[in-house]
Amino acid sequence: MEQTVDGITRFEDQSVVNWFLIETEGGKIAVDAGFPTAWSQVEPHLKDLEAIVITHAHFDHLGFAERARSEAGVPVYVPQADAQLARHPLRYAKSERVPLVYFRHFPTLRLYWRATKSGAIRGKTLRDLKTYGDGDELPGGLRAVFTPGHTDGHMSLHLPDRDVLFAGDAIVMKDPYTDREGPRIVARAATKDSERALRSLDAIAATGARTVWTGHGDAWTQGAEAAAARARELGAS
Ligand SMILES: [Zn+2]
Repeated sequence: MEQTVDGITRFEDQSVVNWFLIETEGGKIAVDAGFPTAWSQVEPHLKDLEAIVITHAHFDHLGFAERARSEAGVPVYVPQADAQLARHPLRYAKSERVPLVYFRHFPTLRLYWRATKSGAIRGKTLRDLKTYGDGDELPGGLRAVFTPGHTDGHMSLHLPDRDVLFAGDAIVMKDPYTDREGPRIVARAATKDSERALRSLDAIAATGARTVWTGHGDAWTQGAEAAAARARELGAS
């Protein structure tokens, strides 16, 4: 599935996770990297790919990053406080609740099945990465907005010239663990600290972006404030 608006293409990998390609004058920038199976989606763009910017180091967002780095020399940017996680994404289990609890939810089983099938579980970890911090200017005109909670280092990426925020999994439009529709924060199965994630919604709202793209689900076009308000109302799950 592919969809392009304002020079931004959304790719959905394994029907469960989004990654994005931004066209700029200097080349193309990927936001997140799906599962390893997303390689076939990025491959036609590799020669123009200037950088990959990762919102957070979960295995369903790191997919093709190491391969693009090692085979095509594309630099990979990871939030400072997620660098350890990027090197060892399977120490992922540091969520508030063990994902096992969520296996009664069909979507959780499906997510793990697709992750396994796509090679993410035994996927390559990042061997070389560049870290970035809050407020940093990144390739493509992206500006980092620190939104911790889902992971310790989670960053959202604001693209002011297109009025777009890539919020990663700081807020999602569909929870991949329960299939519940958003805007909401991700279930405790995959969230390190829900209270912190709820507080980070203020930083999302403060961007004032019109369109919010997230790691899971469709675009939200009614503004970052409204999305944050809805997620705050729903709370943790
Ligand atoms: Zn995540």
